[in-house]
Amino acid sequence: MKIKLYNSLSNKKEDFSPLVKDEVKMYVCGPTVYNDPHIGNARPAVVFDILYRLLLNQYKNVVYVRNITDIDDKIIDAANKRKVTIEEISDQYTESYHDDMKYLNNLSPTKEPKATDYIDEMVLIIQKLISKGFAYEKEKHVLFNVKKYDLYGKLSGRNLEDMIAGARVEVAPYKENEHDFVLWKPSDLDSPGWESPWGTGRPGWHIECVAMINKILGPVIDIHGGGQDLIFPHHENEIAQSCCANDNETFVRFWMHNGYLKMEGEKMSKSLGNIVTVKELSKDYKGEVIRLALLLTHYRKPINFSKTLLDQAKKILDKLYKVKEEVYHIKDKQEHINDEVIEALNDDLNTSLAITKMLSIQDKKELVDTALFLGFLDADPKEWFSSTAKSKILEKDVLIMIKQRDSYRKNGEFDKADLVRDELLQHGIILKDSNGATEWKYK
Ligand SMILES: [Zn+2]
Repeated sequence: MKIKLYNSLSNKKEDFSPLVKDEVKMYVCGPTVYNDPHIGNARPAVVFDILYRLLLNQYKNVVYVRNITDIDDKIIDAANKRKVTIEEISDQYTESYHDDMKYLNNLSPTKEPKATDYIDEMVLIIQKLISKGFAYEKEKHVLFNVKKYDLYGKLSGRNLEDMIAGARVEVAPYKENEHDFVLWKPSDLDSPGWESPWGTGRPGWHIECVAMINKILGPVIDIHGGGQDLIFPHHENEIAQSCCANDNETFVRFWMHNGYLKMEGEKMSKSLGNIVTVKELSKDYKGEVIRLALLLTHYRKPINFSKTLLDQAKKILDKLYKVKEEVYHIKDKQEHINDEVIEALNDDLNTSLAITKMLSIQDKKELVDTALFLGFLDADPKEWFSSTAKSKILEKDVLIMIKQRDSYRKNGEFDKADLVRDELLQHGIILKDSNGATEWKYK
């Protein structure tokens, strides 16, 4: 059975096979760690987790890289607001992201590089782009000159001439063309910076992914995924940088993008105040319920995320757990993954059809195995039916965190102590300080 994937570059479904036999290289843009992930951030992580599981089932070696963007203006702003270091912000929200991904039953990627560990590679690529005439330095900035790359716009279907003819905005004085994008920019004394041939500065976002991809996976990879909102400019700019630096026509063989997520029929936005984080949802819904709610719609279609959808997912999982309860004693490795479910996934990751097919499996053992393969039925049925939501935090971790908070309080670092208290609160744990000791209980 062949996997077919919809390639955003050709705008059609294509037969998938890796460039090197039995070795798949996949990259997905990871989070910028400055806040708790919302449900829209969770969608690509769950979608590409399903693809990862499908690939692992059919290929010997699958390398799945998902990065952490730990340097970005949003992180710097958050650190300034809270008067903490950028490392504190990025560490806190990297952990928050990991907790949520685990809660949703996503497998960990093979590698999870942090952008700040690849600054040297970024500088090298930028130097290459300058020496080949694709980039220029101006006022301590280095910019990619989009007019020098003839194929600019090939992924997004945008034509540079049309873009230029469109409404003009005020162009920064260091830019030769309006759409030139930043590879490197200067840092002042208050912002984090690295030494470079262009002075102390920091990278632009688009060069980060290219440096990590090129260094870890090489100049040509099989699959690159992300949300539809990343097609332009982020992925378009990734192509320009990598192809020009490596003199390559192809950077990514299959581009895949998941659709938008709406909340109760409306676009999620700050102004509407309807952004829902995974942690907020976890108070009322188990991770598998959220996971299934995200997979009931085909990944390329928009999802209307709603309470109704979550309740529908909960009902399906309750049924599945009843089956697991009956066959629990024979739980072992997944041996019988249903063929029709695999066939549905092979057809451009048709998860909605795969779930319908799964629900019609007659053999109970096969049903449980198939559900496990898709990242469901991970809990003990007793635990599933005993509570509505589960907190993934362990008691020993609670005690470690209380100890850490105590030492912050002793040192007068009350901001940090409050962060620990808030984090515990997100897990539904309330602290009470009395007579120099701290007690805790579930909300
Ligand atoms: Zn990226």
